[in-house]
This record gives sequence, C-alpha cells and structure tokens, in this order.
Amino acid sequence: MSTLRFHAIKESLAYKPIKIEEVERRSEIFGKNVFNMKTMRQYLTKDAFVGVENAVQFGKKIDRNIADQVASSMKDWALAKGVTHYTHWFQPLTGATAEKHDAFFETLGDDLAIEQFGGSQLVQQEPDASSFPNGGIRNTFEARGYTAWDPTSPAFIYGTTLCIPTIFVAYTGEALDYKTPLLRALQAVDTAATAVCKYFDKNVKKVTSSLGWEQEYFLIDKTLAASRPDIMLTGRTLLGHTSAKGQQLDDHYFGSIPNRALNFMRELETECMLLGIPVKTRHNEVAPNQFEVAPIFEEANLAVDHNSLLMDIMGRIASKHNFKVLFHEKPFAGVNGSGKHNNWSLSTDTGVNLLAPGKTPMSSLQFLTFFVNTIKAVHKHEALLRAVIASASNDHRLGANEAPPAIISVFIGEQLRKVLEELEGVTKGKLSPQEKTELKLNVVGKIPDVLLDNTDRNRTSPFAFTGNKFEFRAVGSMANCGNPMTVLNTIVAKQLKDFKKEVDALIDKKDLKKDEAVFNVLREYIKSTKDILFEGNSYGEAWEAEAKKRGLSNSKSTPEALKASISKETVALFKEMNVMSAIETKARYEIEIEAYVMHNQIESRVLADIARNNIVPTAVKYQNVLIENVKGLKEIFDKNFKNVAKEQITLIEEISSHIEGINSNVTKMIDERRSANKLMEMDKRAEAYSKKVMPFFDAIRYHCDKLELLVDDEIWPLTKYRELLFTR
Ligand code: ADP
Ligand code: MG
Repeated sequence: MSTLRFHAIKESLAYKPIKIEEVERRSEIFGKNVFNMKTMRQYLTKDAFVGVENAVQFGKKIDRNIADQVASSMKDWALAKGVTHYTHWFQPLTGATAEKHDAFFETLGDDLAIEQFGGSQLVQQEPDASSFPNGGIRNTFEARGYTAWDPTSPAFIYGTTLCIPTIFVAYTGEALDYKTPLLRALQAVDTAATAVCKYFDKNVKKVTSSLGWEQEYFLIDKTLAASRPDIMLTGRTLLGHTSAKGQQLDDHYFGSIPNRALNFMRELETECMLLGIPVKTRHNEVAPNQFEVAPIFEEANLAVDHNSLLMDIMGRIASKHNFKVLFHEKPFAGVNGSGKHNNWSLSTDTGVNLLAPGKTPMSSLQFLTFFVNTIKAVHKHEALLRAVIASASNDHRLGANEAPPAIISVFIGEQLRKVLEELEGVTKGKLSPQEKTELKLNVVGKIPDVLLDNTDRNRTSPFAFTGNKFEFRAVGSMANCGNPMTVLNTIVAKQLKDFKKEVDALIDKKDLKKDEAVFNVLREYIKSTKDILFEGNSYGEAWEAEAKKRGLSNSKSTPEALKASISKETVALFKEMNVMSAIETKARYEIEIEAYVMHNQIESRVLADIARNNIVPTAVKYQNVLIENVKGLKEIFDKNFKNVAKEQITLIEEISSHIEGINSNVTKMIDERRSANKLMEMDKRAEAYSKKVMPFFDAIRYHCDKLELLVDDEIWPLTKYRELLFTR
C-alpha cells in the first residue's frame, strides 16, 4: 500500500473542525488593529494629526518633528495592545510581502531597558535585502535599498508585530517594489483626470482611483496537499487524471459552503475586520473546493496592500484549519482556474464616481468622457495590458480554452454600444442648438435609464463595463494587483492628458464651445476604437480569427506577451507619465522574464522526478504482479494459457508502452532544458522554455495519467484528483 497517500487520506478523514466563536459585532471590531484616522485622532497631537492628514490627502511631506511624534504615539498604541516588535512591511518584486522584525526593546546600560521607537525608525529602514530581485538595478556592490514609510496606507498590528507599510527603493532612487510605480501612477491619473473634470465641475480638486478585487482560491486538505510534491513545490498539480466527477453538475457554484471551509472563512473574516480589510462577500466558485472572497472597494493603494495582506494571512489561517490555500491560476487540469477580478473606477473628492452616469445631462457627458477615454486607452495599449497580467502560472489559464482569453477586448453591453453609435453621427465642428438639445436630452441624458436595465453580463470578457466600473478580469489569482493597477491608471492618465490637449485645441483654434469640443473628440474616439469592443464569447477559434483581422494581439505565452512591456512605446509612456524610468521598466522586464524561466525550470524538474521516481517504479511493480499472474496461469493452463491471460498480457504491453513514453519524453525534455539553460540571454532562454521544454509537460503527463487508470489503486503513490477536490 502506498503509505504516504493513504496515511494522508486517513488523517484528512479524522480531521475535526476547529470551533470558531464570533463574540463581537463586526462593525465593532472593524479596524481595531489599525492605526487609522480614528485612532490617530485619539493618539496624536493636533499638529501631528494634521501633518499626516495632509500627507495622505495631498502628498505633503511629513517633517522630522512630526514623524517623531507619530512614531511615539504609534509605539504607545502598539505597546498597549501587547506588541513587542515592529517591521517595515513591503512588497518586493517576488510577488509576496516582506518583513524583517525589530524589537522595540533597547538596553541603556546599568541593567536598564526601555521600549523605543523614533521618527527615524518609522520613516526609513535599510533591510539587508540584497537577495530580492532587482533586475540588475542594484547589485550588491553599487547601492543598497531602503524602505520608506508610506503614510497613505495606515500601520497595522498583526500578531504581536506593528507593521508599517513602506515602499522599497534603491539608494539611487529606482523602485524595487510594486508600490512605488503604483503611487506614481495614481498621482498621474489624479493630475490628468482632475484637469478633465474641470470641464464639468470647477470644484474638483482630486481624483482617486478605486479598486475592488475579487480573490478566487482553492482550499485543499493540508495533509493531502503535503502528500503531493508537485503541489508543495509548484503550487499546482503537474499530473493527475481528472476525477470521474468534476464540475459538470455545477453543484458547487454558489452552493452551501462546506462547514470546514466556512470555519476557515469566519476566522479569516474576523482577522480581516481587525485589520480594517472590509471583506463582504464569500461564496463557492465553479470548481469543487474553489471559493471567492471580495471586499468593499477602497482607494487603490490601500486595496492593493489589503489584497497582499489578505493573501498572506489566508495562508496562515488555512494552516490552522488544516488547509492549504492554492492561489495558482490553474492548480488542476480539467476544472476551472482562478482569477482576481480587478474592479476599477475613478472618483472625485466631490463624491462623484466618474464611471457612473449622473443625474444631469452634463454629468452624463462627464461619464461618457471617462468611459470613452478608458476604452480608447485600452484599445491603444491592449498589448501592454496583456503583458501586465502575463506570468508562468497565468499562462495556463489565459487562452487555454477557458475564459478569459489571451486577447484583450472590452465588453460594454448592447445599450451603451447603441449610445456610442448615435454619438458617431454628431456633426463635425459647431453643433446647431437643436442638435445639442437633442443630444443632451435624448442620447446622453438617457444613459442612466438605459443602464438601469443593462443586466446582461458577459462573464467571458477580459475587460468588462459593469454598470459603474470596469472589471479587469484577466488578472491572475496569484498576482499582486499593484502591477495591473499601475498600468491601467497610467494608460488612462496618458489618454486623458491627450484628450484634454485635443479638446483645448478645438476650443482655442476652432472656436468651439466646451461641450461641442468634447462631443467632437469623443466622436472620433468612438470611430477609431470599435475594434476593441467585443460582445460575443471571448474564447475559441472564431474570435481568435476575428481578433487577428482587427489587429489585436493574441500572445499565448509570457515571453511573447512581455515584449510589449519593453517596447519603445511603453518605455516612453512610463517615462512621460513619471511612472517608471527606462531603467526601471527594463529591470522589471528582466525580473519577469527570469521568473518565468525559473518557474518552468522548477516545474520541469519536479515533473521529471515524479514521473521517474514515483510513477515508473509503481507501474513496474504492478506490471510484475501481472507477470506473476500470467506465469501462474501458464502453469495451470499450459498451452491454452493465452486465452485466459489475454487481458493481462495486453495490460503488460500497455504499461510498457507508457513507461517507454515517460522515459523517452523525460530524457528529451532534460536535453532541451540543458540547451535552454546554456542560452545566456534571458529572453531567448524563456522562449526556449516555452517552445522547446514545456511541450514535453503534456506528453509526460499524458502517459502518467494513463497509467493512473491502469495501475492498482492500492499502490498508486500520488493522492488523486477525486481525493484532493472532494475531501471537505
Ligand atoms: P460582481 O462583479 O461579482 O457582480 P459586485 O458588482 O458586487 O460583484 O462588485 C464586485 C467588486 O466591485 C466589489 O469589491 C465592489 O466593492 C467593487 N466595486 C463596486 N463599485 C466599485 C467602484 N466604483 N470602483 C471600484 N470597485 C467597485
Ligand atoms: Mg465581478
């Protein structure tokens, strides 16, 4: 009997749910462990409070004296809650979060000790973090990296540690994390959008970008997961025959949440409440043991931090409940993968959601302006949007005959498409008073009513308008949202900047009125962006052929997709919008392409090991049983033995052919891997992995999965799909 697998199954069946008691109301514990505005008001002096408030709202610098006061109050607050350590919490380019804990504790000599935390420790730290990816920016000889306090994201307590959200940059100023470019992109979109808002409302002073993510994940029994080396080392199953029952009955989707998972969710939600993460919905997803958690949307910077924090605490709480969380985009073949929908919008400091139609024709024209400009930005930069969601793991989901596809398109629904069609007919230049009235009353003015019954929602679109926001659905479940949010806000900022230039030119040079100019520019945008709009089923050959005609990119692999992230246009775009310098843009590309190679190299090694060291020996063992059986039959039946041993002999042959299939393919894959590793240029190496090494994954898997169906279940070493997916 295969000991590890059956031991794991036995353990998982004996699991007793951990009781969860929620004593306090959620609204009461919300933000209890966050040094938020409410707490700051209590703990800070008036000066210090105003200083932080100005930093948060207007990006003003916090001076040293104020920082000292904030640090001291932060320490008092934390100590009162039993905290012993503090850490600068940041998001390096590994995709995970990083922290290095320091104690408040200090000795003063003469056996005296105190708890200390000053402004300098709050504002800046120098973690010896030379092993984080930096894409060549920061080799250990030339410059160190440091973390710097980001007052726009409040400090929080996790366990007994005070965590201070920070950015991570090289001494020479280049960003080494996801947050720094995001903050710059948010600044860019604020500037550009505020300028455009002034056409409609002079009072607008600030525009913020909001993000509401929906996080999908799988929950797998911890012991069962531990019995699979592929899950432990790569986060996904590299082989395993599909279970007889999968998701075909749709009986998991929105079904009642299994108790064990529910207990995990309740504890997670309590922790989220304490940390001020406003989680609101939870439900079963399509695949068995797949779930989703989503918060109420927040300002994008905070939402990005909260998503990273959530992913971190999910892993820890899951472990307590004997689960392993899988964030991988495609942990199991044959059932749905996981994504992270990024619901995105822009709103003003006057409280207007710029992607929601307003009550008056003028505010609806403002909505249309932002709506059409977003579509234009996506059309122009579709390849960059595809690049920003590219990763080794997301490749298994995007374009793999499952929504969303590798082609970026925008879904806006039939009603809004009709509105745009009408606007295409707007007269060039000056508009007659009748036309203006007609437009305002019957086209733009009708949008709110039109949208009310905009109920059809295309679930396959990678970028969909859903009533008052756009939903970027192709983001991977493992990804840090910082990256896609940086790109989306940057391209929209650039587009709005260009739009303003065009409108101003019409006003100045053609003597058009403001609204006439807006209508004129929007008309041209609508005409030129039709190719990005798509309402049909977004995956499959028909759309691929159509998309090709329209000139949309369709990059199926990361190395191909990433080319757009270092194109001349992209480098210029980030530079112009002050989001990333050319060096930073190139460094990110290097890091991503290398990560792609590393992930696939690891997978290739793990697959070869399992296939040769687990599957083949097991198959041989079973084949020997069959051979003994045939020998015995020969003894009993002598010449006639072939009649009775026919099936066994066929099985023996089949097993041999699959063993041959595994061994020859593993050998070829290893040879290809060797040649790929010799390529010194990382993009060439990545391409070799994609085109030459990875095709063997499927071939090897095919033979292993066939053997799973043939070999005696009692000796099969790997925990099977049915066990992983249906143990609750
Ligand atoms: P679904 O898209 O699954 O139907 P909802 O429409 O309820 O779900 O919203 C999904 C996410 O979108 C939630 O996190 C929600 O807070 C967020 N959301 C709603 N309005 C906005 C907005 N204006 N900007 C950003 N996110 C938003
Ligand atoms: Mg959604």
